[in-house]
Amino acid sequence: MSQSSPNHVLEFPGGYTRSVGPVIGRFLSDLRDGRLVGVRTRAGRVLFPPLEYDPDTGEDVTGEFVEVGPVGTVESFSWVPEPLSSHPLDRPFAWALIRPDGADTAILHVLDVGEFERGAKQPKRLKTGLRVRAEFRGDPKGEISDIKAFRPEVSMINSPTRLEYDLRPGKALDRFFEGVAEGRLLGHRCDVCGKVIVPMAGLCAKDGVPTTEEVEVADTGVVTTFAVNNLPDPRAPEVPFVSAYILLDGADITMLALVAGIPADQVRMGMRVKAAWKPREEWGPTLTNIRWFEPTGEPDVAFETIEEYL
Ligand SMILES: [Zn+2]
Repeated sequence: MSQSSPNHVLEFPGGYTRSVGPVIGRFLSDLRDGRLVGVRTRAGRVLFPPLEYDPDTGEDVTGEFVEVGPVGTVESFSWVPEPLSSHPLDRPFAWALIRPDGADTAILHVLDVGEFERGAKQPKRLKTGLRVRAEFRGDPKGEISDIKAFRPEVSMINSPTRLEYDLRPGKALDRFFEGVAEGRLLGHRCDVCGKVIVPMAGLCAKDGVPTTEEVEVADTGVVTTFAVNNLPDPRAPEVPFVSAYILLDGADITMLALVAGIPADQVRMGMRVKAAWKPREEWGPTLTNIRWFEPTGEPDVAFETIEEYL
């Protein structure tokens, strides 16, 4: 692992403290103990990582925690042959959407497929359906980065089920990172539910159908929920800092990011924010092109308009 590379994951940037609410707190406590837990929704689905609300209905989750993984299946991936200094590994790896066994949703995380020279082509074993296992850090802290990476479990492929379409879902994630490298945030609109999924994964997990209609969303949005973090993080400008779920204008799925440019105790639900991009010459195919989100100064949006995305 490169010491200069704090970006272990795209989701949950920063170190949450215990003051994150019961659901995320339970998730992080279990992570520290080397277990992955999801939470069951009233509809019976298991969300991983757990959320406090069912993203489909806005209802509170049941509070029933379910151990998932540590083995899971790769649903889509994007090979990174030339990692940047901001990446979690200094040798080729993949960003992958991984669904742990027992969970109904996937996490975007690092997939470490072994020692490769920089620039190496995507290895043959890296495929949708690859079985992978979470590898934990030796010194867990109760943070998402306690999962160092996922690694291939055995050279075995699950028979594809819902991904059995004339479509390579990994292409969708590649395309997302291509867009990010140009300062564009791309999603897919689902033909069935009409929701815009950012980043796009090539399928709508809710409807189990492939998605192909590309939609560009804005780099502005609204804070839906947030957590104040008291542990230093190399990406954050100061401590305490705020990580928040942001609903980008035009998207129907929230995205987790840092919020800065405002004292932590003034961040609020419904606050309008805009991406603060790094200088263009530092851009690469990575979400760290966006340093954080800052308030736009526009009036807050009404709670009712974000309620269903909490
Ligand atoms: Zn859908």
